[in-house]
Amino acid sequence: ASALYVVATPIGNAADITLRALHVLTQVDRVAAEDTRNSAQLLARYGIAKPLLAAHQHNEHEAAARIVTHLQAGERIAYISDAGTPGISDPGAKIVDAVRAAGFATIPIPGCNALAAALSVAGEGFSHEVANTQGGFTFIGFLPTKFKQRAVQLQALALHPHAMVFYEAPHRVLETVSALSTILGSQRQLLIARELTKLHENVHCATLAEGLIWLQADPNRQRGEFVLVVEGANPAQQSSASQHDELLQLLLTHMP
Ligand code: SAM
Repeated sequence: ASALYVVATPIGNAADITLRALHVLTQVDRVAAEDTRNSAQLLARYGIAKPLLAAHQHNEHEAAARIVTHLQAGERIAYISDAGTPGISDPGAKIVDAVRAAGFATIPIPGCNALAAALSVAGEGFSHEVANTQGGFTFIGFLPTKFKQRAVQLQALALHPHAMVFYEAPHRVLETVSALSTILGSQRQLLIARELTKLHENVHCATLAEGLIWLQADPNRQRGEFVLVVEGANPAQQSSASQHDELLQLLLTHMP
């Protein structure tokens, strides 16, 4: 039956494609792709050749309409983004909406995702739990590039207790880690997950202050693709800090 298969592809290492993804990509009639040149190369690596349809950020509405037309003609279609899971800091959401509105099934074919890969090696201590939950996290993705907008967004996260996950580009990573350190506090834990699954893969865990120094120490460490995981605000420290304030107020009011 006609359906849209939303297929995750590798985030670097070509061996990370799933068997099911290969099966689906082999079976479908057409592959809609964020970048048809990249995707043609990716498919060729697995010996797959399919008619391609360009569906990127700038034509997503129009591409969605074309995908629906092909589905109405009885086709099965796969959608892949440049890397990882479509719809996560990548196009895909508008296509899914249009396909569902037209009455067709949207079937996820899960696989690689940079944020899940980074979180899987973050370890303990990044998330401070409010209720009895464990390992909560908030995915932020790319921060705004403008200084003021970025500061406003980070300020709004200052008391957030869960681990926060950011995506960042090489030319902005230093600036971003510096902003995180200044606004959220330099002693929080930071996980720098760089070039995951690739040749120069590097996972470094430190405080934000140390992480900044580590990045500055060698320009090579600022190259590639980054996931940053930052420790959430520690409610214990906040309450002890506010208890401290209360005690101080009490002393001040009662002192002669
Ligand atoms: N849809 C993708 C996913 O599922 O993770 C994310 C696409 S987004 C346009 C690209 C960003 O994801 C990069 O700037 C980087 O922050 C992160 N990323 C992608 N691949 C990565 C890798 N191999 N190592 C570290 N971060 C990666």
